[in-house]
Amino acid sequence: MESDIRNGVVAAKNLSKPQKCVFLDRDGVLNKHIGLLYKPEQLELEQTAVAAMARLNTSQYLAVVITNQPVVARGLCEIEDVDEIQNKLQTLLGENHVYADDMFYCPHHPDKGYPEENPAYKIECGCRKPKTGMLMTAAVKYNIDLTNSWFIGDTTVDIKTGENAGARTVLVRTGEAGGDRKYDVTPDFTADDVLGAVEYILSLKD
Ligand SMILES: [Zn+2]
Repeated sequence: MESDIRNGVVAAKNLSKPQKCVFLDRDGVLNKHIGLLYKPEQLELEQTAVAAMARLNTSQYLAVVITNQPVVARGLCEIEDVDEIQNKLQTLLGENHVYADDMFYCPHHPDKGYPEENPAYKIECGCRKPKTGMLMTAAVKYNIDLTNSWFIGDTTVDIKTGENAGARTVLVRTGEAGGDRKYDVTPDFTADDVLGAVEYILSLKD
């Protein structure tokens, strides 16, 4: 922390100045992709997640996790379980002395017709990626300049989300590795994993 103050990280994160942010998808980027994750014990960090967050925490970028979690809408668990899973991610990071500055999730899902669904969350919302609601909320909360920010994700939905928000994007080859093919998008860069993505972003002069 003291070295951070010395090299100006803390001063630069004064929120009166526009902030730069690296938004990160959760499943398949920070933790291992297992399909629908709905119990905290299913959450396991990706190999390079801690190293990537360590690099971000000592950089001038905020690190904010942005994830779609339709598991509640589908009736697989309750909203408290999603909160517990989010807390577990932050705890696992914390045990390794790194952190996400904030985390946002969308609990909604628009397609009705699943037998166990929870109708309260079966709505068309403004936050489910590739919509930009969560990024806009973060941008207001932290005074983030989205055009100087990045989105790291493992799906074309993530890349589309970054594009929609006016940010630059990195696709990682972990998780779904872009194999969802829902959107015809081209990321600004493709990296082997989240550490490679972060190292690329921090290598750029701006
Ligand atoms: Zn939503």
